[in-house]
Amino acid sequence: MWADLEPVGRDPRGGYRRFAWTSADATLREWFEAEAARRGLDLVVDRAGNQWAWWGSPSAAAPGVVAGSHLDSVPNGGAFDGPLGVVSAFAAIDLLRSREHVPSRPIGVVNFGDEEGARFGVACAGSRLLTGALPVDRALALTDADGVGLAEALRAAGRPEPAADPEALARVGTFVELHVEQGRALAEPVGVATEIWPHGRWRITLDGEANHAGTTPLDARRDPMLDLADLVTSARAAASSHGVLATVGKVEVDPNGVNAIPSQVRAWLDCRGADPDAVAAVLADLDRFAPRRESWTGTTVFDPALAARLSGLLGGAPLLPTGAGHDAGILAAAGVPAAMLFVRNPTGVSHSPAEFAERADCHAGVEALADVLAELTR
Ligand SMILES: [Zn+2]
Repeated sequence: MWADLEPVGRDPRGGYRRFAWTSADATLREWFEAEAARRGLDLVVDRAGNQWAWWGSPSAAAPGVVAGSHLDSVPNGGAFDGPLGVVSAFAAIDLLRSREHVPSRPIGVVNFGDEEGARFGVACAGSRLLTGALPVDRALALTDADGVGLAEALRAAGRPEPAADPEALARVGTFVELHVEQGRALAEPVGVATEIWPHGRWRITLDGEANHAGTTPLDARRDPMLDLADLVTSARAAASSHGVLATVGKVEVDPNGVNAIPSQVRAWLDCRGADPDAVAAVLADLDRFAPRRESWTGTTVFDPALAARLSGLLGGAPLLPTGAGHDAGILAAAGVPAAMLFVRNPTGVSHSPAEFAERADCHAGVEALADVLAELTR
């Protein structure tokens, strides 16, 4: 499976560019379909566009146990974030079948669409649409960097207009997402998540006055790039003083010319940490930049009993929180018992071509996921 995915959506500058509803995404979705067919699993695409492969026939009265993750990537993302969870879910089913496990409940594999939000700006768009956390009218108003709307992108991909799908959600009794760790907290191959830190995104618009770089005296300029510099350093200082994380990772500059003072700079701030009040304090410190909130997700606590049960089942696997958002968090917030397994990442690097996990650790992850699925479908 890994070899099949390896060439899909490679970016010549390094890593992957697998954005939602692009040709790379279509190839990944075809791959998912083929892996489902190869195993005789029933393929279902829900109204939000997420793909499900079912071993058995789930219903609201007899929901299944689902594993999986996402196949899309951030710009120049790594190979493991997302795909490791989908590949491991299929591999865990293979392992269960080789052990002649007969599940008492249906087992599913899911590929959530547009998890990274790299194209339309809303993370976990597929799972949020599914649960209704992302209203359809808001989703349909989203556009990508080229001005292509989500509705148009879906049409181009041969998909109908999206909708929430409570029936599809009701078929999920428990969700277990295996994911590469995006930090370096794990000393062992596999860990179990306890919670997702609260996190949000804010947009800041800095206005100036476009003018000639060679004829405008310094004291006659209104240069929003200086405000951007102030924003970046102030965000760093505020995050440091309040003990959370803040990142300005995306900017747009108009007109973006070497010899022109910008007329406007738009910047995006990502802020997150264990304590939501500390995140709020950072935003209060940056109030003079008039940050406009684009998204906010409070602390997501995974089912503590389920996490403890999985940790025990896996020989006392370590329990750890994460600062990264995941589809499992969206499902947990919608009331689905959800858990996450993390596979060790030796460098901790993620959202980068350097993201890595040792093969032996990935195999340990598959074994762990198979053990968990077996336990939950005994
Ligand atoms: Zn991910």
